[in-house]
Amino acid sequence: MKKFNFSAGPSILPREVIEETAKAVLDLNGIGLSLLEISHRSKDFQAVLDEAVALFKELLDIPQGYSVLFVGGGASMQFCMVPYNFLEKKAAYLNTGTWANKALKEAKNFGEAVEVASSKDKTFSYIPKGYTIPTDADYFHITTNNTIYGTEIRTDIDSPVPLIADMSSDIFSRPVDVSKYTCIYGGAQKNLAPSGVTFVIVKDDALGKVSRTIPTMLDYRTHIEGGSMFNTPPVLPIYSAMQTLRWIKAQGGVKEMQRRALERAELLYGEIDRNPFFCGTAAVEDRSLMNIDFVMADEYKALEDEFMAYAQSKGMVGIKGHRSVGGFRASCYNALPLEAVQALVDCMKEFQKSH
Ligand SMILES: *Cc1c(COP(=O)(O)O)cnc(C)c1O
Repeated sequence: MKKFNFSAGPSILPREVIEETAKAVLDLNGIGLSLLEISHRSKDFQAVLDEAVALFKELLDIPQGYSVLFVGGGASMQFCMVPYNFLEKKAAYLNTGTWANKALKEAKNFGEAVEVASSKDKTFSYIPKGYTIPTDADYFHITTNNTIYGTEIRTDIDSPVPLIADMSSDIFSRPVDVSKYTCIYGGAQKNLAPSGVTFVIVKDDALGKVSRTIPTMLDYRTHIEGGSMFNTPPVLPIYSAMQTLRWIKAQGGVKEMQRRALERAELLYGEIDRNPFFCGTAAVEDRSLMNIDFVMADEYKALEDEFMAYAQSKGMVGIKGHRSVGGFRASCYNALPLEAVQALVDCMKEFQKSH
């Protein structure tokens, strides 16, 4: 049976990317050796890394003066690298969910970290508005897409202090005005590559301003100077990321990714709003295009397991909601074809009919 992969992360990748990665694992560029068994400093791998960086810059239209890095440790390690490198006295955080909260908690180890606003009062189902960013903060940290709660900040906000964003789960899903940010980071396993690599876009001249000693591996400057080769980088996920970036470019770039995301979201939210058996959990104006959360309407709560089993029988994979929200979550990342969303919508319609 055909499977429709709505997994939240690690998640769907373009089929071509998986095939190209599989080929490179067997024989990279016809050199008679696997990607897995050659030096990361070989010219074949250096070309992969260089192309990945160049495509990152091209696709996101990254201005001069920014570096693109590939490091290990996941987005979670960035929760400490960010304050290590940028927090001198005080940092400001917008608390929009589990990941944002983890970032905030980590920053508290380095100085004063203030929660500018939080949507915890309503299970993070909306993005706080009307808050004031303290002008004496070293930076303001946001999580643009809240993977668990299905809310998203879909525009590049204005901040009076350097803006730093965790874009783990919505990178490359829309054009981004990188000049508005001092640092953008994310784990690659949601929308870019297999797990194991973390991307960082950082403004070079914002570094070197804190007075603390930064451990070598946690200092962004180490990875800028080393060209992401200070130590052995995660070669396989970097290779896949490069292939995904080629794929995005061939499809028409981030504008086309955004068009597809809107098309998928319109279709699924449309059904959630139409079908009396289901309801969305996120505030309508803050709905994520990437992670679409919904539950059974109150009067049909008892049918939740039945719908889950039915959807699974039709090939839906990974639609169980996160335990902190319950219900269902359909992650609709770049590589997800509209056909998959149509299949899920058909399940919802069929379920309504048969009850
Ligand atoms: C998944 C996720 C993380 C955690 O990423 P790791 O690479 O597993 O550390 C952080 N932030 C967001 C928004 C995420 O979706």
